[in-house]
Amino acid sequence: MLVIGILGLQGDIRFHEEILKEVFNKRNISDGKIIIVKQLKDLNNIDGIIIPGGESTVIGILAEKVGLFNELKEMISNGIPTLGSCAGLVFLSNEVSDRIVGPVNQPILKVLNVITERNTFGAQKESFEADLNISILGDKPFKGIFIRAPTVKKINSGVNILSKFDDKIIAVRQNNIIALSFHPELSNDIRIHEFFVEMIKKNS
Ligand code: GLN
Repeated sequence: MLVIGILGLQGDIRFHEEILKEVFNKRNISDGKIIIVKQLKDLNNIDGIIIPGGESTVIGILAEKVGLFNELKEMISNGIPTLGSCAGLVFLSNEVSDRIVGPVNQPILKVLNVITERNTFGAQKESFEADLNISILGDKPFKGIFIRAPTVKKINSGVNILSKFDDKIIAVRQNNIIALSFHPELSNDIRIHEFFVEMIKKNS
């Protein structure tokens, strides 16, 4: 059994679920299962976790409120394969600031050794798509969809850059964690989720 959790407190949950099902189909993973994680007990027995985009302040506050913040932090620190996108990148980071207001104080997991800037590209109406070269995916570009996207301002030890756009770091990896500025679940391209499922298989 391969069980993948999607943190389901707030944000873009459903498309991650659909794309994971596509990966299970394509790879003939008949024992693949998806759990929408809403409470502490949902973290039992998962082999990997996706932290979706949405609103990182809300995700953080709800994670504390429902009582899964500490366990989630511990599981990721202990090596569970983790994919964070957009607000997920913010929530994983060690330190966060906002492009306009500067340092912000919001509950973050502090498991990814980077400093992240929120809203680098501006407001919702400044959303855009861009063809990205992502080192782990080979030569074919991946269409990244950026919605109030954060970027990584500084990487610290143990973190590798997977992609840059416009000189800004928009994808990183630190061992078991992949974190992205954009929304890979909206692109009609399953390659990032496929890579993530492979990471989980290798780890279990
Ligand atoms: N700017 C949002 C945040 O910091 C992230 C936006 C998104 O996930 N699409 O939470």
